[in-house]
This record gives sequence, structure tokens and C-alpha cells, in this order.
Amino acid sequence: MERTLIKNLHGKVGEEVMLRGWVAVRRDHGKLIFIDLRDRSGMVQMVALPNHEEAHAITSTLRSEWVVEIKGLVNKRPPKMVKVEWPTGDIEIEITEVTVLQEAETPPFDLTEDTELIDEQVRLKYRYLDLRTERLQKNIKTRSTFVQKIREHLFSQDFTEIETPLLTESTPEGSRDFVVPSRIHPGKFYALPQSPQQYKQLLMVGGFERYFQTARAVRDEDLRADRGFEHTQIDIEMSFVEMEDVMRTTEEMMIAVAESMGHSIKEKPFPRISYKDAIEKYGADKFDLRTEEEKKTGVLAYAWVIHFPFFEKTDNGKWTFTHNPFSMPIPEHVEWLMKGENIGDILTTQYDLVCNGFETGGGSIRAHTPEILKATYKVMGNSEEEIEARIGHMLEAFKYGTPPHGGIALGVERCVMNLTGEHYLREVQAFPMTRGGQTAVMNAPKELSPEQLVELGLSVKRRPE
Ligand code: ASP
Repeated sequence: MERTLIKNLHGKVGEEVMLRGWVAVRRDHGKLIFIDLRDRSGMVQMVALPNHEEAHAITSTLRSEWVVEIKGLVNKRPPKMVKVEWPTGDIEIEITEVTVLQEAETPPFDLTEDTELIDEQVRLKYRYLDLRTERLQKNIKTRSTFVQKIREHLFSQDFTEIETPLLTESTPEGSRDFVVPSRIHPGKFYALPQSPQQYKQLLMVGGFERYFQTARAVRDEDLRADRGFEHTQIDIEMSFVEMEDVMRTTEEMMIAVAESMGHSIKEKPFPRISYKDAIEKYGADKFDLRTEEEKKTGVLAYAWVIHFPFFEKTDNGKWTFTHNPFSMPIPEHVEWLMKGENIGDILTTQYDLVCNGFETGGGSIRAHTPEILKATYKVMGNSEEEIEARIGHMLEAFKYGTPPHGGIALGVERCVMNLTGEHYLREVQAFPMTRGGQTAVMNAPKELSPEQLVELGLSVKRRPE
């Protein structure tokens, strides 16, 4: 007999079926023993009656989270007994045969309840059990659906999906790098990408015109509720575009995807606000435009923030970029940049997409000529040699006919937090880290063996306090 999924039981009333899944709950009333069975598609109530003697005896031994194969008859429940809160609430399976595929230890926490209040260390140590719970099943599937729809939309708009390297050179994205020691070049290190920024620009030089990737980005930053070491971004770059084009493409995509997932959007087209006005009005460059009522109903309130200052002063009095050193100033301010004038007043082409209080995306039009990019690095106090060492490869590439281009990256976790109403990144990642930067289930970071250290040419010293 072929396996039936619980979600397909409605078409099988009156038939005998075979189900496989996990025992969520067993309720033993002596003669009648009830099982709630769970598979990837849902949950159904099953009942063992004494007339199927062997099945009844085995059912009486079942415990939560045992993996079973059960055959049974699909019966309609009398209308008064329908459990309206379950999609299969009008159905009950009369058990005829039970096979235990795998017994289970008692889980360290109750998987039929929401695990929000369970200690984080315990949840993450047993993440594979936490993932069985209803909310995490839903969140991870919502994430998958979101990425699928984004992909389909971008393919329909003639984008090409391209992967870029993970072992690479440090990119100046404003955070610390995670580094990987090289075995064949002892004393040298790769950096994990903080974003595919430079590669996606090089793909524009390479003639692809419309690139996207669901890219992993890794940044050694302080961990917060909405920020982890690793995140995934929908990374996009387009040639022959201006700010309006990238913003429109992004906006159309977000509207199409969010609406097809059943969400309504507060305001279309998305309102726009300058950085200056946002700070004056909301005290921050991210804000929540929803009313208290809208917060309860899954409304998405998007807004664009534009006209950010390109540069800000560092603690030691030098200029540094606020968002992205590869950006172009707004057209009116290109000349200031080239002359190194009015630095604090130069506005960048950066656009940030805010939604329900989170910064969910950001991007810009890029400096696509060597002269403009070089001017940015000069403003930041770099000598000719430093510029060459940092971005010489970009300056070289830009000499060979580079189209004007720009792009954006959207944080997948933050988008999915908005779609699910979650407040923590870890609720929408399968295997998040603890707040202390420890991996779920597995034990990283950890020491290397002496042999590995020798092979890598490394020795470990204590950091002075
Ligand atoms: N590279 C930027 C980031 O990761 C996004 C972009 O400008 O496209 O934030």
C-alpha cells in the first residue's frame, strides 16, 4: 500500500490508507486509545478499538515522538464532533495495523506546545526537535515559499542566477571579517564574504546585466535580535539603471510576492522619505508605519529612505562611508566628490527599504568609472598605494567598458520575520546561533588539533586583556 499524506485524507473517506509519521500525543481511555499523528503535511486523530486486537495492543505502548506506520480506515466524524481548529478535524482514522519504525526518548521539552519560552541553550542543542513544532515548521516553510516566489519573479524579469565565491578577499562592508587560514599559503587568509558586492559589480562588467543570487553573507558583528553572524540576502545587480529603476524593480517584486502570500500592503507605491526627514520625524532611519490595529493583521508597511549622507566622521576625525563605498553620489553632488569639497553634505544614491520597523534591504547606484571610485577612496584618506591595494582590481576592471549599474540586497530573515510576525532572527533560521555565538547542535567555534595548527602554520596566543 502506498503512503498517504495527512493533508490528502479528505479524498480517501471510506478507504483504507497507510500513514507514516510521528506520534504527537496518545490519550489512553482503556478501550479507546487515541493517537494524534503528525507528518510534514499536518495532523490527524486516530483511534484504536478493541476489535482490532493486535493494533490496539501495540497502540497502547506508543509514546510521543515514536515514528510509526499505521494502516486504518478513513471515517467521517459526526458533525457535532468536528474539531474545527484542525484541517482534518472532520476525519478520524480507525487503526487496523501498527508498525513501530523507531522508538523515541522522551523529548527534553514538549513538542506540542510553542517553545518560545524554553531556554535558548536547550532549544538550540535540540534544534532538530524544536524544528518539529508547529510554529517552526510554518516559519521555515514560509521562508522557503518566499525565496521560491522571489526567484520565480526574478526569472520572469530576465534575471540570471549566479553564484559567487565564498573564499574570497575582504570586502569593505563596514564590519569585521570572518577569516579562513590557507593551508597552501601559510600565514595568508581568505575572508568569508560580507556580501557579494564586488563580484556582482564585476558580473556587470562581465555583461550579465541582470544578476541575482540568494547569497549567504557573513559578518563578525555584535549579535542582536535581528542580526546574526550569518544571514541570507536576495542580492541583485542591474546594468543601465538609475535609482528609480532599481527601486521600481524591487518594489514590484516585493508587492507581487507579499500579496501572493496573502499579505496586504499599507501604501502603494511605497512612500519615500529623506534620511534627514526620517531622523526628524522618527528619530531613526527605520520606523514602523503601522497602526496598532494593523500590527495585528499582517499588514506590511514599506517605505524607502533616500538621500543619505555619503560620508560621516570617524572617531579619529577621518571621513568614512555611511553605507557603501562603491556607491555613486546623487548626480548633483558628483562634482563635490571629484573636487573633495563639501564632504559632509554629499548625498549618496543609497536607498534603504524599511518594513514594519526593520531595515529589510538597501542598495545604491555604483560609481562605475575608475575616477569616481578613486575619488571616494581619496576622501577617506587613502594614499595612491592604499587605493591600489584595496580596490586596484575594481579600478582596472572599470577601464574596460563598464555599464552604469546599481543594485540592492534584501535580508531574507528580516523579510520573513515581517511575513511571520516573528521578533527574533532565530525563529526564521533552521540552525541559528546562540546569543553567545555558539552554533546550534554542533560545537563551534572550537580549538583546532595541534596537527591542524601545524598544517596551517598557525600558533594560538592568548589575546592580551
Ligand atoms: N552590498 C550591500 C549590502 O550587503 C547591498 C548593496 O548595496 O547591494 O548591504
